[in-house]
Amino acid sequence: MGIVPNKSKECIFCKIIQGTLPSRKAFENEHVFAFWDIAPQAPVHILIVPKHHVDDVLDVRPDQGILFQQLFLAAQQIAGQLEIAGSGFRLVFNSGDHACQTIHHLHLHLLGGAQMGGSMVG
Ligand code: 5GP
Ligand code: ZN
Repeated sequence: MGIVPNKSKECIFCKIIQGTLPSRKAFENEHVFAFWDIAPQAPVHILIVPKHHVDDVLDVRPDQGILFQQLFLAAQQIAGQLEIAGSGFRLVFNSGDHACQTIHHLHLHLLGGAQMGGSMVG
């Protein structure tokens, strides 16, 4: 799967994947790119994105379900590499206004490195 050209022209995360916008890379494989969030909400705050542009969780078609598998497997590996697998971490997808989604390129937040609160909304 390649990056969808029309979307990549305007999409910040496509530019980060392509290297035309800088980022602090955390992980990369054939399908997935991961980088440190510019405004971290935890000591470890990584954004894991598919290299193939998809706007949102809702836009992943049933035949693209492997995208989710690739994101979660990358999260596993990154948590291991950053040594937060044992202490614990949180994985979050924001979708739409109520969840305050700001970037419309599918991304999985990986948060960890310190004790979090029990509430997931705030
Ligand atoms: P959302 O609110 O859409 O789920 O998450 C978007 C995330 O992208 C936010 O946590 C925000 O801080 C991060 N972000 C926005 N622009 C950039 C950028 O240019 N570079 C990096 N590394 N993170 C960004
Ligand atoms: Zn994109």
